[in-house]
Amino acid sequence: MPDTGLPDTPAAPDSTTTDLASDTSPEHRAQGTGCGPLFPTPDSSAKSTRQQLFEAVRAAGAIPRVDLSRQTGFSPATVTQTAADLIATGLIEETDLPRREGDGGRGRPPVGLKIRPCAGMVVGVKISDRSNSAVVLDLAGQLLGSATLPAPPTARSTEEILTEAEVLVQTALQDAGRSGARPDAIALGLPGMVDFDLGRVLWCPFMEEADIPLRDLLTARLGAPVRIDNDANLLALAELWFGEGRGLDNFAVVSIEHGVGMGLVINHRLHRGGMGHGMEIGHTKVQLDGALCRCGQRGCLEAYVADYALVREAHTALNLGHQSTCADVMLETLYRQAKEGNALARTIFSRAGRYLAVGLANVVTLFDPALILLSGDRLRYDFLYAEEVLSETRALTHRPGRPPTPVEIHAWGDLVWARGAGALALEFATETLVG
Ligand SMILES: [Zn+2]
Repeated sequence: MPDTGLPDTPAAPDSTTTDLASDTSPEHRAQGTGCGPLFPTPDSSAKSTRQQLFEAVRAAGAIPRVDLSRQTGFSPATVTQTAADLIATGLIEETDLPRREGDGGRGRPPVGLKIRPCAGMVVGVKISDRSNSAVVLDLAGQLLGSATLPAPPTARSTEEILTEAEVLVQTALQDAGRSGARPDAIALGLPGMVDFDLGRVLWCPFMEEADIPLRDLLTARLGAPVRIDNDANLLALAELWFGEGRGLDNFAVVSIEHGVGMGLVINHRLHRGGMGHGMEIGHTKVQLDGALCRCGQRGCLEAYVADYALVREAHTALNLGHQSTCADVMLETLYRQAKEGNALARTIFSRAGRYLAVGLANVVTLFDPALILLSGDRLRYDFLYAEEVLSETRALTHRPGRPPTPVEIHAWGDLVWARGAGALALEFATETLVG
């Protein structure tokens, strides 16, 4: 069985941590209560009736026609007719629902509608400079298979990225028992600045070339329709489709690992900005003429908080020896020393935490989200979101007459990024298969 992408890391003292066994897990969401945003987006009315009803069925998991009509506002006759059409084309099917209390347990169980899982299949891919991962999802959002492969820590050519993506997709399809099958859609996420509409990678910290039409190159290489996006957007989509964000209209997801990223959901919809650059919180400035960021500018939040910033600090501040050239090893050493009470190591984390508090306070002040989720697969350096960081965030935020914005920690498994890419691929496949 593949890695489930479930939360796997204890974290976050004094703040809500994703319950490892709770029903908020992607698998429970997908199998028991559907997946996808629970509320229609402002542009939903522009979609066809077929697509709106299909998405409502998928979000519910399984739903009687009468409830579908009530929930979507379509007349019972329209629901009946459209459902018949979707059943005829093999996209949804009928299913027995559990009896409701008080029906006496007699007669036929109530009948509902659900997505026909084999109606389609998508692949979500995350490329990084640590490990690459992919998931295969059916059209109901259920996990069919996955793959995680090591990624080179060095800069790569576009050709190398294409090959990595190809191998990853093939390996994940093999794990799903679908070797050689053509996915209905593939979505790929990577860090950096991605123009979603044009499908171009404008800048990526580990790509040798800039301004690459990666979407079209991948489409040609993989032989299936492709979408590409910034990886922090995928994290927000993972929350919007499979996590707590399903029921929230406005929230921000901030990821802290080798970079610092942010995805913002406004009115149940991912906000990608107007110029294709998205929410680059990692490159907002927190210090004039400050530390050098890997983007080439100075004073970026990322240059104080991201993995590589901590490693840089550790390298200059601690006596780690020449053998610790691997960033992961150095970071683990730094973390262990901080845990053991090394004052210098603790200072490095607490300084990073204070800068993070500045970044989070700015998110609250600018966007007033209902919730900030700190999310990602490496949220284990809990100094970064200790109570002092959260209280500093509150102290830096002027909110007269309002309670502090809640901050929650979601330390998912490392497939969460790929699952977010899977959500994007599902969005895309739904348009083409159902729309
Ligand atoms: Zn920067």
